[in-house]
Amino acid sequence: MAYYVSNSLIFFLCPCYSGIRIVDCAFRCANTRNLPGYCHTPGKHLFCSVNPMKQTIQNLRNYFHSGITFDLKWRKTQLKAILQMLEEQTENLTKALEQDLAKPPSEAWITEIGIVQHEARYALKNISKWTKPHRVSTPIFLAPAKSAIQPQPRGLALIISPWNYPIQLMLSPLIAAVSAGDVAVLKPSELAPATAAWCEEYIPKYLDPHAFEVIQAGPEKTSELLKEQFDFIFFTGSTKTAKYIARAAAEHLTPTVLELGGKSPCIVTHCKHIQTAAKRIVFAKFVNAGQTCVAPDYVLVQDDLREDLENELKKALVQQFGPENSPQNLTHIIHKGHFRRLDSMFDNGEIIIFGGARNEETLTFAPTLIETDLFHPCMQEEIFGPILPIISLTSNDPIKEALTIVEKHPTPLAAYLFSDSASDVKSMKRCISGGFAHNDALMQLSNVHLPFGGVGTSGHGGSHGYAGFQAFSHMRSEFCSPSAIDIPLRYPPFTEFTMKILKFFLSR
Ligand code: NAD
Repeated sequence: MAYYVSNSLIFFLCPCYSGIRIVDCAFRCANTRNLPGYCHTPGKHLFCSVNPMKQTIQNLRNYFHSGITFDLKWRKTQLKAILQMLEEQTENLTKALEQDLAKPPSEAWITEIGIVQHEARYALKNISKWTKPHRVSTPIFLAPAKSAIQPQPRGLALIISPWNYPIQLMLSPLIAAVSAGDVAVLKPSELAPATAAWCEEYIPKYLDPHAFEVIQAGPEKTSELLKEQFDFIFFTGSTKTAKYIARAAAEHLTPTVLELGGKSPCIVTHCKHIQTAAKRIVFAKFVNAGQTCVAPDYVLVQDDLREDLENELKKALVQQFGPENSPQNLTHIIHKGHFRRLDSMFDNGEIIIFGGARNEETLTFAPTLIETDLFHPCMQEEIFGPILPIISLTSNDPIKEALTIVEKHPTPLAAYLFSDSASDVKSMKRCISGGFAHNDALMQLSNVHLPFGGVGTSGHGGSHGYAGFQAFSHMRSEFCSPSAIDIPLRYPPFTEFTMKILKFFLSR
């Protein structure tokens, strides 16, 4: 290694770079980016003493404080860039999803690419309206002041996503962050490595690289990342990991949105359209091989409808995924650990009424229907795979029986009811769940007008559309009082007369 001195700066021939590199990378980068203390490749400079993660976070913060992201035009450009990226890189992305999960291209488009494009277009269409101050009324005793709610960006956000819909669950919160004017660290799941690599390659190519940084990390590095201060954390994943996230966030009093999972019940009572119900349940459950947070986790069916429902479910399975035990167009199980967890649910007294074939080597798992009871292992945790338990409701008040079962489980992310009974629909009002769909399943999440999120153990906070924008924004109260008029009543000393007037107005 050689060095020489020029203009009072020390230059080194640096082996990590083909040319000559200045020792003080912070100085060099400050020059290239016109921002103080800006290092655009932290950790890659031979003599860079800065911790790369800290530097990345500092860079993002500096960029946020430059005010660029407050500009509506900048936000629109980023949203358009997301659309352009998805349009131009569809093929690469489809391949990555195939590599990680063997997602069929059509499913990849519907559940990952198309749905995100739809959300980005919706945000683009509405962002001007969302970002405007929203005037609210001001009580008479505060006249002539005016009041408004002004959405402000929160600042630096951390988005942590899972492997099951690795694009949708990374880009949908990113759209919300962009719309709100935040900068963000994006942490994809290490269990979908091809898609994570796609994010790392293309997000900085299309979006403003000073505002968004993809950091690939497993649990250990993510724990390090969580020691840093963020202004907001948007986490999608398991309830178990959410506890670590919430603990780390609490250290900095950082607000969170936690999008978690759980056991989403699918109740079938007094249902006249069993065939339609079966088709909808099959799609919702077996798309992505059941690895969907809002998939119906188990079916509770009125006993006298069970046989009909089972027959229709079998027909729908063959129609949608091909012959029993040799399914086509079915996503694979993500990895062997997850496969073994699902596999261990068998041989516990259940009756397999459809499917059951599986192969650990190829990670294929045929859609499987089982008849079982509430004590079966699959009823003790979220299944998150292509096994659908069917449990009979045998009492003469099936909806009451179903709700008692649901209440004994952690709060679900979604609750589904297939029924033509108005009174059963009404009964569902007392079933606490993140979302509810009547005579359908899963489709509620594709409506951007509906906030999506959990409650209790299935998480907190909302996402999608305006709810996502709200989550990534701080809704600042703004109160504007003219100085030209000053009403003396508001100041002490408060006389009997002024107290009377104040009491009169405050009691309205
Ligand atoms: P997970 O909790 O294992 O991982 C989610 C993310 O957290 C990943 O990026 C992972 O790297 C990171 N992580 C894992 N362990 C960590 C630790 N100890 N410290 C810090 N970070 C850590 O979840 P998963 O297996 O990827 O996803 C499956 C779960 O996610 C299911 O429970 C499912 O229901 C839920 N989910 C929820 C939604 C929703 O929108 N509500 C969507 C998809 C999945």
